[in-house]
Amino acid sequence: MSLQIIQYPHPTLRHVSKPLKRVDAELREWIAQMFELMYEHEGVGLAANQVDLPYRIFVCNPSGDPDQKDAECVFINPVILKGSGQAEREEGCLSIPDIRAPVVRKEKISVQAYNLAGEEISGEIDDFFARIVQHEVDHLDGRLFIDRLSPTQLADISGELEEFEIDFRSKRDVGEMPSDEQIAARIAELEQLRT
Ligand code: ZN
Repeated sequence: MSLQIIQYPHPTLRHVSKPLKRVDAELREWIAQMFELMYEHEGVGLAANQVDLPYRIFVCNPSGDPDQKDAECVFINPVILKGSGQAEREEGCLSIPDIRAPVVRKEKISVQAYNLAGEEISGEIDDFFARIVQHEVDHLDGRLFIDRLSPTQLADISGELEEFEIDFRSKRDVGEMPSDEQIAARIAELEQLRT
């Protein structure tokens, strides 16, 4: 199966991912594809539900540089334990391309997760890396960065969001997009396999 990035308002972006119980060869292949898609679209992070998979996983590379393999991370079942401070910075999202807005996040967070080798990774991170992790964990909880904007900020981009909604509906109309029921059935099937 070849993965693709889904866009707002695809319902899987609102799916709350359940913790993953096993990592098999197929999932490893999907994770490799997630890195490829992330680089292709010049992103620094990509969550599983952005490629229509219901798993609590995201990939990231804060450098955004495919040659900097050392900076690549896979977070499996990530949990943000605590956060402190506040920072505001402009964010975007590969599932809502070309829209950017300043988002307030915790400046520093403590995070715990597992890597692909099944080892626990945990520690305190800050700044841009902490922002990416918060953005991606939000995805896994079915939350988008636009949910964190003020009503005024949201009003500024409402026209652009509406275009995404119109585009989504027209794909449905021509049969290029499955129904909500079909999407939910596929998600449930994939969940049953690994969560
Ligand atoms: Zn995003």
